Amino acid sequence: MSDFEGLVAAVTGGASGIGAATADLLRSRGATVAVLDLSGPVTCDVRDAASVDAAIGAVVAEHGRLDILINNAGIGAAGDVTANSDDEWRNVLEVNVIGMARVARAAIPHLRRSASPAIVNTSSIAALVGLPQRALYSASKGAVAALTLAMAADHVAEGIRVNAVIPGTADTPWVGRLLDAADDPAAARTALQARQPIGRLVTAEEVAGAIVYLASPLSSATTGTLLPVDGGVMGLRIPPRPAG
Ligand code: NAD
Repeated sequence: MSDFEGLVAAVTGGASGIGAATADLLRSRGATVAVLDLSGPVTCDVRDAASVDAAIGAVVAEHGRLDILINNAGIGAAGDVTANSDDEWRNVLEVNVIGMARVARAAIPHLRRSASPAIVNTSSIAALVGLPQRALYSASKGAVAALTLAMAADHVAEGIRVNAVIPGTADTPWVGRLLDAADDPAAARTALQARQPIGRLVTAEEVAGAIVYLASPLSSATTGTLLPVDGGVMGLRIPPRPAG
């Protein structure tokens, strides 16, 4: 397929995991892709407005346009609501919520000049179901889901579509780091897999497939959608698979 031919996409957090898989898939479908990351080809720290403005400016200066924004950079946090300091709350919300607003603010003036403008935000199942020991992270991803709907409403009249993907536990370097930190990483991985109705973790490529579906000009009637890619975790009520 070449549905992105002639279009320019920016992918934040595009150097690793879901973002990297999304950048690869967009390229294979004909897009010109700019990877925005802390140490990406286009250096960008979403915590810093000057860095974001410079990165989006550099993409448009080099490629002459910006059609698609994949707002994907994010960081994790563990613990119940008593676990994190104010500084930890500020840092996670700074990256996961304000970071997405900041990049959208810089990108939207350019998207307004596109015939096929779209934004896809990366939320999480933590936005929609109560997961233990994820209070701060869940608050941040719930905000992303709400922000997505508000942005979709604000920009529908000017043709900018805004959607979010809701990944379940995806096998990325991030989850690898979480598992490595467990007392027994192999047992922790087995427990995560047993929680999945499909019996395995979601892959980065499967989440990328949903992101690219939402971003595609072929999805021109799809806006304000929160699309789960979670291996059935949220929608299915079946007994957990036996571990192992
Ligand atoms: P990852 O750690 O593999 O990749 C995240 C990328 O974001 C990294 O390249 C990192 O450098 C970048 N990043 C972090 N802070 C940044 C900043 N301040 N500015 C610019 N870039 C920054 O993680 P992933 O699993 O691919 O996660 C991608 C997105 O998916 C995140 O928003 C995450 O919350 C979300 N998500 C992941 C899972 C999962 O199970 N892996 C599940 C649900 C949602």
